[in-house]
Amino acid sequence: MAKQDADVIVVGAGVWGLCCAFACAKRGLSVRVLEADRIGSGASGGIVGALAPHTPEQWEPKKQFQFEALSEAASFWSGVDALSGQVSGYGRIGRLMPLTSERTRALAEERVDQANQLWQGKYDWTVLSSHPLVAEEIALHGIVFETLSARLFPAHALKSLVAACRALGVQIEEGQRVAEIGAHNVSGPWGKTEAKSVILAAGVSGFSLLEPHVGPMNGQAVKGQAALLDIDLGDAPQIFADGVFVVPHAHGCTAVGSTSEREWQNARLVDEKLDVVLAKAQKICPSLAGAEVIQRFAGLRPRAPRPDPMLGPVPGLEGVYAAMGSFKIGFGIAHKVGEVLADYATGNQVDLPPKFQVGQHLG
Ligand SMILES: Cc1cc2nc3c(=O)[nH]c(=O)nc-3n(C[C@H](O)[C@H](O)[C@H](O)COP(=O)(O)OP(=O)(O)OC[C@H]3O[C@@H](n4cnc5c(N)ncnc54)[C@H](O)[C@@H]3O)c2cc1C
Repeated sequence: MAKQDADVIVVGAGVWGLCCAFACAKRGLSVRVLEADRIGSGASGGIVGALAPHTPEQWEPKKQFQFEALSEAASFWSGVDALSGQVSGYGRIGRLMPLTSERTRALAEERVDQANQLWQGKYDWTVLSSHPLVAEEIALHGIVFETLSARLFPAHALKSLVAACRALGVQIEEGQRVAEIGAHNVSGPWGKTEAKSVILAAGVSGFSLLEPHVGPMNGQAVKGQAALLDIDLGDAPQIFADGVFVVPHAHGCTAVGSTSEREWQNARLVDEKLDVVLAKAQKICPSLAGAEVIQRFAGLRPRAPRPDPMLGPVPGLEGVYAAMGSFKIGFGIAHKVGEVLADYATGNQVDLPPKFQVGQHLG
Protein backbone atom coordinates (compact mmCIF):
# COMPACT_ATOMS: atom_id res chain seq x y z
CA MET A 1 0.00 0.00 0.00
CA ALA A 2 1.50 3.34 -1.02
CA LYS A 3 1.54 6.02 1.65
CA GLN A 4 0.40 9.55 0.93
CA ASP A 5 2.48 12.54 1.90
CA ALA A 6 1.55 14.73 4.87
CA ASP A 7 2.93 17.81 6.59
CA VAL A 8 3.93 15.68 9.56
CA ILE A 9 4.50 11.97 10.03
CA VAL A 10 4.60 10.88 13.68
CA VAL A 11 6.22 7.52 14.37
CA GLY A 12 4.55 5.91 17.41
CA ALA A 13 1.12 6.25 19.03
CA GLY A 14 2.13 6.50 22.67
CA VAL A 15 1.27 9.57 24.73
CA TRP A 16 4.21 11.56 23.31
CA GLY A 17 3.46 10.77 19.68
CA LEU A 18 -0.23 11.53 20.15
CA CYS A 19 0.46 14.81 21.98
CA CYS A 20 2.77 15.84 19.12
CA ALA A 21 0.11 14.90 16.58
CA PHE A 22 -2.53 16.84 18.53
CA ALA A 23 -0.39 19.98 18.82
CA CYS A 24 0.58 19.89 15.12
CA ALA A 25 -3.03 19.35 14.02
CA LYS A 26 -4.19 22.27 16.18
CA ARG A 27 -1.81 24.45 14.17
CA GLY A 28 -3.44 23.39 10.95
CA LEU A 29 -0.86 20.83 9.79
CA SER A 30 -1.93 17.56 8.18
CA VAL A 31 -0.73 14.73 10.41
CA ARG A 32 -0.40 10.97 10.04
CA VAL A 33 0.60 8.75 12.93
CA LEU A 34 2.19 5.41 12.05
CA GLU A 35 2.00 2.90 14.88
CA ALA A 36 3.82 -0.43 14.62
CA ASP A 37 1.40 -2.31 16.83
CA ARG A 38 -1.66 -0.84 18.61
CA ILE A 39 -2.31 2.59 20.08
CA GLY A 40 -0.84 2.55 23.59
CA SER A 41 0.95 -0.76 23.15
CA GLY A 42 4.17 0.72 24.60
CA ALA A 43 4.75 2.23 28.05
CA SER A 44 1.74 4.53 27.63
CA GLY A 45 -0.65 1.59 28.01
CA GLY A 46 0.19 1.52 31.73
CA ILE A 47 -1.96 2.11 34.78
CA VAL A 48 -0.10 4.40 37.21
CA GLY A 49 -0.48 7.94 35.86
CA ALA A 50 1.17 9.94 38.64
CA LEU A 51 2.00 13.49 37.49
CA ALA A 52 4.48 14.53 40.15
CA PRO A 53 7.06 17.35 40.25
CA HIS A 54 10.75 17.31 40.98
CA THR A 55 11.70 18.60 44.43
CA PRO A 56 11.50 22.41 44.69
CA GLU A 57 15.24 23.07 45.13
CA GLN A 58 18.35 23.53 42.96
CA TRP A 59 16.11 24.98 40.26
CA GLU A 60 17.22 24.50 36.66
CA PRO A 61 15.60 24.69 33.21
CA LYS A 62 14.46 21.05 33.33
CA LYS A 63 12.56 21.63 36.59
CA GLN A 64 11.06 24.85 35.21
CA PHE A 65 9.94 22.99 32.06
CA GLN A 66 8.29 20.29 34.16
CA PHE A 67 6.71 22.86 36.50
CA GLU A 68 5.17 24.73 33.57
CA ALA A 69 3.90 21.44 32.12
CA LEU A 70 2.29 20.36 35.38
CA SER A 71 0.73 23.80 35.82
CA GLU A 72 -0.78 23.64 32.33
CA ALA A 73 -1.92 20.01 32.58
CA ALA A 74 -5.42 20.71 33.96
CA SER A 75 -6.37 23.00 31.11
CA PHE A 76 -4.72 20.76 28.51
CA TRP A 77 -6.60 17.63 29.57
CA SER A 78 -9.89 19.43 30.05
CA GLY A 79 -9.49 20.79 26.48
CA VAL A 80 -8.80 17.29 25.16
CA ASP A 81 -11.80 15.88 27.03
CA ALA A 82 -14.06 18.70 25.80
CA LEU A 83 -13.10 17.91 22.21
CA SER A 84 -13.35 14.13 22.55
CA GLY A 85 -16.38 13.95 24.84
CA GLN A 86 -14.40 11.46 26.94
CA VAL A 87 -12.78 11.49 30.37
CA SER A 88 -9.01 11.34 30.84
CA GLY A 89 -9.27 10.90 34.61
CA TYR A 90 -7.16 13.99 35.29
CA GLY A 91 -7.36 15.41 38.82
CA ARG A 92 -5.01 17.56 40.88
CA ILE A 93 -5.13 15.46 44.04
CA GLY A 94 -1.74 16.40 45.51
CA ARG A 95 0.81 14.06 47.01
CA LEU A 96 1.78 12.81 50.47
CA MET A 97 5.41 11.94 51.20
CA PRO A 98 6.13 10.44 54.63
CA LEU A 99 9.27 11.68 56.39
CA THR A 100 11.48 8.98 57.82
CA SER A 101 14.09 10.90 59.83
CA GLU A 102 14.77 14.16 61.65
CA ARG A 103 17.01 15.16 58.75
CA THR A 104 14.36 14.67 56.06
CA ARG A 105 11.87 16.58 58.21
CA ALA A 106 14.29 19.50 58.58
CA LEU A 107 14.85 19.51 54.81
CA ALA A 108 11.11 19.34 54.20
CA GLU A 109 10.57 22.35 56.45
CA GLU A 110 13.28 24.32 54.63
CA ARG A 111 11.46 23.62 51.39
CA VAL A 112 8.20 25.26 52.49
CA ASP A 113 9.52 28.72 51.50
CA GLN A 114 11.42 27.39 48.47
CA ALA A 115 8.27 25.75 47.11
CA ASN A 116 6.30 28.92 47.67
CA GLN A 117 8.84 30.93 45.71
CA LEU A 118 9.67 28.42 42.94
CA TRP A 119 6.07 27.32 42.46
CA GLN A 120 5.08 31.00 42.27
CA GLY A 121 2.73 30.84 45.26
CA LYS A 122 0.27 28.71 43.27
CA TYR A 123 0.80 25.39 45.06
CA ASP A 124 1.53 24.48 48.66
CA TRP A 125 4.19 22.37 50.28
CA THR A 126 3.25 21.80 53.90
CA VAL A 127 4.47 19.45 56.63
CA LEU A 128 1.69 17.53 58.38
CA SER A 129 2.07 15.46 61.53
CA SER A 130 -0.03 12.57 60.16
CA HIS A 131 -2.60 11.54 57.55
CA PRO A 132 -5.31 8.86 57.87
CA LEU A 133 -4.10 7.05 54.72
CA VAL A 134 -0.48 6.70 55.83
CA ALA A 135 0.64 4.19 58.48
CA GLU A 136 1.90 5.89 61.64
CA GLU A 137 5.11 3.86 61.74
CA ILE A 138 5.98 5.04 58.20
CA ALA A 139 5.49 8.70 59.07
CA LEU A 140 7.22 8.96 62.45
CA HIS A 141 8.63 12.37 61.49
CA GLY A 142 5.60 13.77 59.70
CA ILE A 143 4.43 13.91 56.11
CA VAL A 144 4.91 16.40 53.29
CA PHE A 145 1.68 17.32 51.52
CA GLU A 146 2.11 19.20 48.26
CA THR A 147 -0.71 20.33 46.00
CA LEU A 148 1.01 20.45 42.59
CA SER A 149 0.87 16.70 41.88
CA ALA A 150 -1.99 15.25 39.90
CA ARG A 151 -3.17 11.97 38.39
CA LEU A 152 -4.73 10.76 35.18
CA PHE A 153 -5.54 7.27 34.07
CA PRO A 154 -3.26 6.38 31.13
CA ALA A 155 -5.71 4.16 29.19
CA HIS A 156 -8.52 6.71 29.52
CA ALA A 157 -6.24 9.65 28.73
CA LEU A 158 -4.99 7.94 25.56
CA LYS A 159 -8.53 7.11 24.47
CA SER A 160 -9.56 10.72 24.94
CA LEU A 161 -6.45 12.00 23.15
CA VAL A 162 -7.00 9.66 20.20
CA ALA A 163 -10.60 10.85 19.81
CA ALA A 164 -9.48 14.49 20.08
CA CYS A 165 -6.74 13.90 17.47
CA ARG A 166 -9.26 12.30 15.11
CA ALA A 167 -11.65 15.20 15.64
CA LEU A 168 -8.85 17.44 14.33
CA GLY A 169 -8.33 15.23 11.29
CA VAL A 170 -5.25 13.28 12.42
CA GLN A 171 -4.97 9.88 10.72
CA ILE A 172 -3.75 7.19 13.09
CA GLU A 173 -2.76 3.94 11.42
CA GLU A 174 -2.05 0.85 13.51
CA GLY A 175 0.06 -2.12 12.39
CA GLN A 176 2.44 0.11 10.37
CA ARG A 177 6.00 -0.48 11.56
CA VAL A 178 8.50 2.07 10.33
CA ALA A 179 11.71 0.24 9.40
CA GLU A 180 13.89 3.23 8.51
CA ILE A 181 13.91 6.97 8.78
CA GLY A 182 15.61 9.38 6.43
CA ALA A 183 15.65 13.12 5.75
CA HIS A 184 11.97 14.12 5.48
CA ASN A 185 10.85 10.50 5.12
CA VAL A 186 10.13 7.16 6.71
CA SER A 187 9.92 3.76 5.07
CA GLY A 188 8.40 0.41 5.85
CA PRO A 189 6.94 -2.61 4.05
CA TRP A 190 4.67 -0.24 2.09
CA GLY A 191 7.59 1.76 0.64
CA LYS A 192 8.61 5.33 1.37
CA THR A 193 6.46 8.12 2.83
CA GLU A 194 7.60 11.72 2.52
CA ALA A 195 6.66 14.53 4.88
CA LYS A 196 7.91 18.01 5.67
CA SER A 197 8.57 16.85 9.22
CA VAL A 198 9.05 13.44 10.77
CA ILE A 199 8.58 13.21 14.53
CA LEU A 200 10.18 10.15 16.05
CA ALA A 201 8.18 9.14 19.15
CA ALA A 202 8.74 5.40 19.06
CA GLY A 203 9.59 4.92 22.74
CA VAL A 204 12.36 2.41 23.42
CA SER A 205 12.52 1.44 19.72
CA GLY A 206 13.38 4.99 18.69
CA PHE A 207 17.04 4.58 19.59
CA SER A 208 17.67 1.79 17.07
CA LEU A 209 15.91 3.81 14.36
CA LEU A 210 18.28 6.71 15.02
CA GLU A 211 21.52 4.78 15.42
CA PRO A 212 22.22 4.23 11.68
CA HIS A 213 22.38 8.04 11.43
CA VAL A 214 23.97 9.17 14.70
CA GLY A 215 26.02 6.16 15.82
CA PRO A 216 25.61 4.00 18.96
CA MET A 217 23.47 5.85 21.51
CA ASN A 218 23.21 3.84 24.70
CA GLY A 219 19.49 4.54 25.03
CA GLN A 220 17.95 2.24 27.59
CA ALA A 221 14.71 0.39 28.22
CA VAL A 222 14.00 0.42 31.96
CA LYS A 223 11.30 -2.10 32.81
CA GLY A 224 8.51 -1.20 35.22
CA GLN A 225 5.76 -3.33 36.76
CA ALA A 226 2.60 -1.97 38.38
CA ALA A 227 -0.79 -3.15 39.63
CA LEU A 228 -4.33 -1.81 39.76
CA LEU A 229 -6.37 -2.52 42.87
CA ASP A 230 -10.12 -2.61 43.27
CA ILE A 231 -10.33 0.00 45.99
CA ASP A 232 -11.92 3.43 45.75
CA LEU A 233 -9.96 6.08 47.65
CA GLY A 234 -11.87 8.89 45.93
CA ASP A 235 -9.86 12.05 45.40
CA ALA A 236 -7.44 11.32 48.25
CA PRO A 237 -3.87 12.45 47.57
CA GLN A 238 -1.43 10.06 45.97
CA ILE A 239 1.28 8.73 48.24
CA PHE A 240 4.97 8.43 47.40
CA ALA A 241 7.15 6.54 49.87
CA ASP A 242 10.12 4.19 49.66
CA GLY A 243 10.09 4.43 45.86
CA VAL A 244 6.44 3.34 45.65
CA PHE A 245 3.47 5.30 44.31
CA VAL A 246 -0.11 4.74 45.48
CA VAL A 247 -2.40 6.63 43.10
CA PRO A 248 -6.18 6.86 43.66
CA HIS A 249 -8.00 7.04 40.31
CA ALA A 250 -11.26 8.74 39.39
CA HIS A 251 -12.98 5.54 38.27
CA GLY A 252 -12.81 3.86 41.67
CA CYS A 253 -9.49 2.00 41.45
CA THR A 254 -6.08 2.61 42.96
CA ALA A 255 -2.78 2.07 41.16
CA VAL A 256 0.39 0.88 42.84
CA GLY A 257 3.79 1.08 41.15
CA SER A 258 6.43 0.55 40.13
CA THR A 259 9.53 -1.55 39.82
CA SER A 260 12.55 -0.02 38.10
CA GLU A 261 14.57 -2.74 36.38
CA ARG A 262 17.58 -2.06 34.18
CA GLU A 263 18.13 -5.76 33.63
CA TRP A 264 15.31 -8.01 32.51
CA GLN A 265 14.63 -10.94 30.20
CA ASN A 266 10.99 -10.52 29.26
CA ALA A 267 9.53 -7.03 28.95
CA ARG A 268 5.91 -8.14 29.44
CA LEU A 269 6.43 -10.63 32.26
CA VAL A 270 4.88 -9.72 35.60
CA ASP A 271 6.74 -11.52 38.37
CA GLU A 272 7.45 -11.56 42.11
CA LYS A 273 9.13 -8.15 41.95
CA LEU A 274 5.65 -6.67 41.71
CA ASP A 275 4.61 -8.56 44.85
CA VAL A 276 7.41 -6.78 46.70
CA VAL A 277 6.04 -3.40 45.55
CA LEU A 278 2.50 -4.41 46.56
CA ALA A 279 3.66 -5.50 50.02
CA LYS A 280 5.48 -2.19 50.50
CA ALA A 281 2.39 -0.27 49.38
CA GLN A 282 0.20 -2.08 51.92
CA LYS A 283 2.67 -1.29 54.66
CA ILE A 284 2.65 2.38 53.70
CA CYS A 285 -1.12 2.58 53.19
CA PRO A 286 -2.93 -0.03 55.35
CA SER A 287 -6.28 0.82 53.68
CA LEU A 288 -5.05 -1.23 50.68
CA ALA A 289 -5.04 -4.47 52.72
CA GLY A 290 -7.31 -7.11 51.20
CA ALA A 291 -8.01 -5.13 48.01
CA GLU A 292 -8.20 -7.34 44.93
CA VAL A 293 -5.58 -6.87 42.21
CA ILE A 294 -7.59 -6.41 39.02
CA GLN A 295 -4.79 -5.65 36.57
CA ARG A 296 -1.04 -6.19 36.41
CA PHE A 297 1.12 -4.34 33.91
CA ALA A 298 4.73 -4.48 32.76
CA GLY A 299 6.26 -2.08 30.27
CA LEU A 300 9.49 -0.41 29.16
CA ARG A 301 10.33 3.19 29.96
CA PRO A 302 12.40 4.89 27.25
CA ARG A 303 15.48 6.40 28.90
CA ALA A 304 17.71 8.51 26.67
CA PRO A 305 21.51 8.32 27.08
CA ARG A 306 21.18 11.06 29.72
CA PRO A 307 18.23 11.00 32.12
CA ASP A 308 16.59 13.96 30.37
CA PRO A 309 14.11 14.10 27.54
CA MET A 310 15.69 14.15 24.09
CA LEU A 311 13.80 16.60 21.91
CA GLY A 312 14.11 18.46 18.66
CA PRO A 313 16.14 18.33 15.43
CA VAL A 314 18.27 15.25 14.85
CA PRO A 315 21.74 16.45 13.74
CA GLY A 316 22.47 15.50 10.14
CA LEU A 317 18.94 14.32 9.39
CA GLU A 318 17.01 17.19 7.94
CA GLY A 319 13.31 17.39 8.75
CA VAL A 320 13.53 14.72 11.48
CA TYR A 321 12.77 15.60 15.10
CA ALA A 322 13.05 13.42 18.19
CA ALA A 323 10.40 13.17 20.91
CA MET A 324 12.22 10.58 22.96
CA GLY A 325 13.44 9.83 26.47
CA SER A 326 10.13 10.24 28.31
CA PHE A 327 11.45 7.84 30.98
CA LYS A 328 9.52 8.21 34.27
CA ILE A 329 7.79 11.55 33.70
CA GLY A 330 6.26 11.00 30.27
CA PHE A 331 2.63 11.72 31.12
CA GLY A 332 3.40 14.81 33.18
CA ILE A 333 5.17 16.68 30.37
CA ALA A 334 3.66 15.05 27.24
CA HIS A 335 1.50 18.04 26.26
CA LYS A 336 4.41 20.48 26.56
CA VAL A 337 6.61 18.14 24.52
CA GLY A 338 3.85 18.20 21.88
CA GLU A 339 3.94 22.00 21.78
CA VAL A 340 7.74 22.04 21.48
CA LEU A 341 7.68 19.58 18.58
CA ALA A 342 4.88 21.52 16.88
CA ASP A 343 7.05 24.64 17.20
CA TYR A 344 9.86 22.85 15.40
CA ALA A 345 7.49 21.51 12.74
CA THR A 346 6.16 25.01 12.07
CA GLY A 347 9.60 26.65 12.07
CA ASN A 348 9.04 28.65 15.27
CA GLN A 349 11.79 29.70 17.62
CA VAL A 350 12.08 27.15 20.45
CA ASP A 351 13.45 27.92 23.89
CA LEU A 352 14.43 24.40 24.93
CA PRO A 353 16.42 23.49 28.07
CA PRO A 354 19.92 22.89 26.62
CA LYS A 355 20.12 19.42 28.21
CA PHE A 356 17.09 18.32 26.18
CA GLN A 357 18.76 18.89 22.81
CA VAL A 358 19.51 15.74 20.83
CA GLY A 359 23.19 16.66 20.43
CA GLN A 360 23.60 16.69 24.24
CA HIS A 361 22.73 13.00 24.32
CA LEU A 362 25.14 11.94 21.58
CA GLY A 363 28.81 11.07 21.83
C1 LIG B 1 5.25 0.60 35.11
C2 LIG B 1 5.38 2.00 34.62
C3 LIG B 1 4.89 3.06 35.40
C4 LIG B 1 4.97 4.36 34.96
N1 LIG B 1 4.43 5.35 35.74
C5 LIG B 1 4.45 6.62 35.28
C6 LIG B 1 3.82 7.64 36.03
O1 LIG B 1 3.26 7.39 37.10
N2 LIG B 1 3.84 8.91 35.53
C7 LIG B 1 4.45 9.21 34.34
O2 LIG B 1 4.45 10.38 33.92
N3 LIG B 1 5.07 8.25 33.61
C8 LIG B 1 5.07 6.97 34.07
N4 LIG B 1 5.68 5.99 33.34
C9 LIG B 1 6.42 6.37 32.14
C10 LIG B 1 5.46 6.63 30.98
O3 LIG B 1 4.59 5.54 30.84
C11 LIG B 1 6.29 6.85 29.73
O4 LIG B 1 7.18 7.93 29.94
C12 LIG B 1 5.41 7.19 28.53
O5 LIG B 1 4.26 6.40 28.47
C13 LIG B 1 6.21 6.95 27.26
O6 LIG B 1 5.48 7.43 26.19
P1 LIG B 1 6.11 7.42 24.75
O7 LIG B 1 5.05 7.91 23.86
O8 LIG B 1 7.43 8.10 24.76
O9 LIG B 1 6.47 5.87 24.47
P2 LIG B 1 5.51 4.61 24.28
O10 LIG B 1 4.28 4.72 25.07
O11 LIG B 1 6.38 3.41 24.54
O12 LIG B 1 5.08 4.69 22.77
C14 LIG B 1 5.93 4.36 21.70
C15 LIG B 1 5.06 3.79 20.59
O13 LIG B 1 5.84 3.66 19.42
C16 LIG B 1 5.49 2.46 18.78
N5 LIG B 1 6.61 2.07 17.92
C17 LIG B 1 7.79 1.53 18.28
N6 LIG B 1 8.56 1.29 17.22
C18 LIG B 1 7.87 1.70 16.15
C19 LIG B 1 8.12 1.71 14.75
N7 LIG B 1 9.29 1.24 14.26
N8 LIG B 1 7.18 2.18 13.90
C20 LIG B 1 5.99 2.66 14.37
N9 LIG B 1 5.69 2.66 15.71
C21 LIG B 1 6.62 2.21 16.57
C22 LIG B 1 5.25 1.50 19.91
O14 LIG B 1 4.47 0.38 19.50
C23 LIG B 1 4.54 2.38 20.91
O15 LIG B 1 3.13 2.35 20.77
C24 LIG B 1 5.60 4.66 33.73
C25 LIG B 1 6.10 3.62 32.94
C26 LIG B 1 5.98 2.31 33.37
C27 LIG B 1 6.50 1.20 32.49
